[in-house]
Amino acid sequence: MTTKVIKLSPKNPDPKAIANAVDVLKSGGLVCFPTETVYGLGADSFNVPAIQRLFEAKQRPSDNPLIVHVGDFREVSLFAGDIPPKAKTLAGQFWPGPLTLVLQGKETVPDIVRAALRTVALRVPNHAVALALIREFGSGVVAPSANLSGRPSPTTAAHVLDDLRGKVDLILDAGSTEIGIESTVLDVTVDPPVILREGGLTREQIEQMIGPVRSTDSMELLKRSPGTRHRHYAPRAKLMIVGSTMEIESIAKSGKKIGVIFHSFEPSSFEAKNARKLGADVKKFAHDIFDAIRELDEKGVDVILVEQVKERGIGVAVMQRLRKGEE
Ligand code: AMP
Ligand code: MG
Repeated sequence: MTTKVIKLSPKNPDPKAIANAVDVLKSGGLVCFPTETVYGLGADSFNVPAIQRLFEAKQRPSDNPLIVHVGDFREVSLFAGDIPPKAKTLAGQFWPGPLTLVLQGKETVPDIVRAALRTVALRVPNHAVALALIREFGSGVVAPSANLSGRPSPTTAAHVLDDLRGKVDLILDAGSTEIGIESTVLDVTVDPPVILREGGLTREQIEQMIGPVRSTDSMELLKRSPGTRHRHYAPRAKLMIVGSTMEIESIAKSGKKIGVIFHSFEPSSFEAKNARKLGADVKKFAHDIFDAIRELDEKGVDVILVEQVKERGIGVAVMQRLRKGEE
């Protein structure tokens, strides 16, 4: 299969390009598109053979459910019956945006979408290209991140091509994604709701609207989100979180080829050519972290050392991904 790439404006996408992409989805094809979080790998939510191809293209474990991307709140009723008041409040406030709600799924939602769970995960992405595509399509686009399973998520069309060239029909290239970290996944089938995956929307933002939520540390709760059990966000090189340049020096002494991603360290202490400095602001760090990991990985380093960030705001989601990458 040859993968076609169409460049388009992130703010005013060409309707012809969108119509083209909708045709591909309707005929059971795979379309990669930007969202405000990361690039997604899209397929028709009700086309089981297309979704099977999506799983094959990503080499994704079949017990990992998919997020259904919908055009607006009304479309939710195609997928979920019982919508608790807290879910309505959150959708009203944060959609379109980086919040995925896990709701009780309708019987009609294919098993492959839900990994045979009773629940279904839904969100409305906040990106003109994604919205145009999903609204024009009209009945839900499943879209996991457009990377090979286990690899860092793609934040540019080049990342998508690196992982999925020849495996998808079309890539809509509208430049780099704004947030750079996936959506927050919140299970609202229980009360208080449970954060299954930290992400682009912070816990504080959610709690301001609906009061306390819980996080998943216990295995029992993590079972609700099978995806969180798999290896994730990992480069080919070994990934390690470091808190000081002393740690870097001692690892460098082992003779391993190291790459460093940092935001506050004094770079004189480590070799600068395989180093990348990211913004000190954690939002900027989140925007660039997956790109930096991919870049150093391509340089063929043995170990990628990443300076830790403060676990505040989106820093919580960043550190969660770095820890998963270390596993
Ligand atoms: P991604 O593949 O990067 O889009 O991640 C999707 C993630 O959403 C999965 O790995 C799960 O953690 C979560 N998810 C999707 N559907 C469900 C569901 N029905 N119940 C719980 N978690 C879900
Ligand atoms: Mg993913």
